[in-house]
Amino acid sequence: MKGQEQSANWRTAEQAMSDQNASRLEIVQYGHPALRQRSARVGRVTDEVKRLVERLAEAMRQANGLGLAANQVGIARQVAVVEIEGKLTPLIDPEIVSAKGSEEADEGCLSLPRLYGQVARPTEVVVRARDLSGRRIKLTAEGLMARAVMHEIDHLNGRLFIDHVDPATLHWTIRTTEEGEVVVQPTTLGEALKVFVSARLGGHPRTPPGEGAPRGSR
Ligand code: ZN
Repeated sequence: MKGQEQSANWRTAEQAMSDQNASRLEIVQYGHPALRQRSARVGRVTDEVKRLVERLAEAMRQANGLGLAANQVGIARQVAVVEIEGKLTPLIDPEIVSAKGSEEADEGCLSLPRLYGQVARPTEVVVRARDLSGRRIKLTAEGLMARAVMHEIDHLNGRLFIDHVDPATLHWTIRTTEEGEVVVQPTTLGEALKVFVSARLGGHPRTPPGEGAPRGSR
C-alpha cells in the first residue's frame, strides 16, 4: 500500500517537523522506529508546536481516534492530543504526577489497526503538562480520559498498549455486521505482530486469520 511504502522511509524529527505544514500527517504503523522512540521534550511552545497540535487533532479526527501522539506521525516530540466527548486536550511535555485505582478495559491503537485487548490502567491520574500558551498546568483525568492520557504518554515514551495487554484477550475486530455486532477473531501477540511486519515490508500483507469468513461468528 502507498502509505506503507512512504512510512518505510524514516525521516528525522526535524525533517518531519518542517514537512508538517506542507503535507497531511500520516499515521505510521507498528514497525516504524518512531513508535519505539522516547520523544524529546518541547520546552518552549512555539508556533510550530501549536501547529503540530492542530495537525495531530486533524489526523486523529480523520482516523476516528480518541488520541494521537507525535510519535505516531513520525515526530519524536513530546506532543499528543486526546479528545473525549468533543473536548480536545493537548498534552505537551506531560508528566504523570500521581495515579490511583486500576481497571481493565479493551484498548486499541491507530498504529496497530484492528487489534484490541484488555489493558489494566489507573482509574484516575494527575498529569503535569504545558498548555498552548506554554504555561505549566496540572490536569486530573478519570475513567476513559485517564486511559487515553496514559495511552498517549506511553507513546511519548516509546511504549505501546501491547506491552501491557493481557495476551489471552488479544483479538482482531474483523468487521461490524449490519446489526451492529462486532465480529472478532482471537489472536496471539506473535501472530498479530507478524501481520504488521509483513505488511510493512511491502510483501503481500497477510490478512488476519479468518478475515472475510470468520468461523463460528455468524
Ligand atoms: Zn496508540
